[in-house]
Amino acid sequence: MAISTDILKEERKATWRDDLRKKLKNKDRMNISRVKMPEEEPEKRTRFQDMEVNKGLTCEQAVKEASRCLDCANPTCIEGCPVSINIPKFIKYIENEDFLEAASVLKETNALPAVCGRVCPQEKQCELKCFYKDKLEKDPVAIGYLERFAADYEQDSGKMRVPEIAPSNGTKVAAIGSGPASLSWAGDMAKLGYDVTVFEALHEIGGVLKYGIPEFRLPNKVVDKELEILEKMGVRFVTNFIVGRTATIEDLQAEGFQAFFVGSGAGLPRFMNVPGENYNGILSSNEYLTRVNLMRAYDKSNDTPVLQGKNVAVIGGGNTAMDSVRTAKRLGAERAMIIYRRSMEEMPARVEEVKHALEEGIEFINLANPIEYYADEHGRVNRMRVQRMELGEPDSSGRRSPVVIEGSEFEMDVDLVIVAIGVSPNPLIPSSVHDLKVSRWGTIDVNNQMQSSKPELFAGGDIVRGGATVILAMGDGRQAANSMHQYLQNK
Ligand code: FAD
Ligand code: SF4
Repeated sequence: MAISTDILKEERKATWRDDLRKKLKNKDRMNISRVKMPEEEPEKRTRFQDMEVNKGLTCEQAVKEASRCLDCANPTCIEGCPVSINIPKFIKYIENEDFLEAASVLKETNALPAVCGRVCPQEKQCELKCFYKDKLEKDPVAIGYLERFAADYEQDSGKMRVPEIAPSNGTKVAAIGSGPASLSWAGDMAKLGYDVTVFEALHEIGGVLKYGIPEFRLPNKVVDKELEILEKMGVRFVTNFIVGRTATIEDLQAEGFQAFFVGSGAGLPRFMNVPGENYNGILSSNEYLTRVNLMRAYDKSNDTPVLQGKNVAVIGGGNTAMDSVRTAKRLGAERAMIIYRRSMEEMPARVEEVKHALEEGIEFINLANPIEYYADEHGRVNRMRVQRMELGEPDSSGRRSPVVIEGSEFEMDVDLVIVAIGVSPNPLIPSSVHDLKVSRWGTIDVNNQMQSSKPELFAGGDIVRGGATVILAMGDGRQAANSMHQYLQNK
């Protein structure tokens, strides 16, 4: 049964948690089906690198979706959000058409809601814990779509509010790296009245949000608008500054910085070390995506090009692999293929990215693994040898392990191979800070307060977790800001 328009109209006049809830019964709310995100058509969107696939909800769609929320007494969705957004509260503001207030609720705990609404794996986080999903096995409330809606509405309204800032306490603190972990840390430290500087090695602020995730999923202008607010909050951004090279942490301490947050990420690509992997035309997803996104190699008039291919194989099944293969398709690949050693069910990529890739004609060659590459007389890759796999027992991640099927090898033509099998932490900070405790994988060891073995140095995001997610990095940034504040107050 669809919700009656009359009830919706009446409901819009009311305020959050007033008697409107009594008028729209839970059984009516539960009968509304989950909204579908409007999308650009695959044939059209695959012609442009910078055309966003999801178009965002209309006001009407957002209000209707928001009215599905039951405003549970124990809202478990909040537990599923690493930055603890008050989910029912912002959703009720949307239901009540107070979209700017909904955005304010988001910004109480999330410095980048327009980003998170687009890229968080909601199906594994807040939406997984939504009452509908958890208890009724129905489609959860589209929390991510609603988060994006409220944040975009505020950005488009030109009335972006700057969160309240405590009076300056004059204490200088710095972040190393400008990815989501540092940005979320910076927002919280600025709110507490600190003098915050973020040092970034590249010429753009945003970390993976700028150099990794393509425009068709996360437009740079959306990230820039969120950065503007941090700037208005007094956060200073310094680009082209490599901590450990341009200046060491000791140099910065001499300049008066009292504490540091290391959010330097995991930007070191991994390779498979199979024969022929050094041929031309085989590159890491990091290099490929950075050239396209940050250096704008998709614009042919630009003088920083990227190799193009007709038969492009992307090795891996995560978000990075999906972004690479969909980019290759947009750059003109005739066959854009995912080669993944497990099955579709084990793919770590966001469900929506896999769906979009399938719609765009990406070929999935699952349960397969490359074991050797061959090249033409110019040293450019032209073929690869692949081995078939089957699934065995679950490994430590709980996913079933791929096992080689003997005698199952086959060859295929390729002229571009992008390796997207994971990343390792950036080694510069761990290796340039004396006495810093580091794990055997190169990640920085921290306690549950995100504090390292050097008390003035806190860390979070991928440099602590290895490759993880935007929202986990942001949750770390928030925890580190809280702990650093305690540390500096007690110092
Ligand atoms: P990063 O975002 O990696 O930022 C670290 C920054 O530190 C970089 O800008 C780097 O240049 C800088 N830096 C490093 N060393 C120094 C130094 N010595 N001095 C100064 N600066 C330094 N997650 C999701 O949740 N959803 C997705 O859809 C998703 N898609 C992804 C797609 C791609 C292509 C990639 C690569 C990752 C994706 N992720 C996704 C993962 C997510 O982006 C990361 O987990 C997250 O960005 C980690 O944040 P961070 O702040 O720890 O580091
Ligand atoms: Fe709303 Fe679902 Fe959260 Fe309950 S669990 S408050 S229904 S979003």
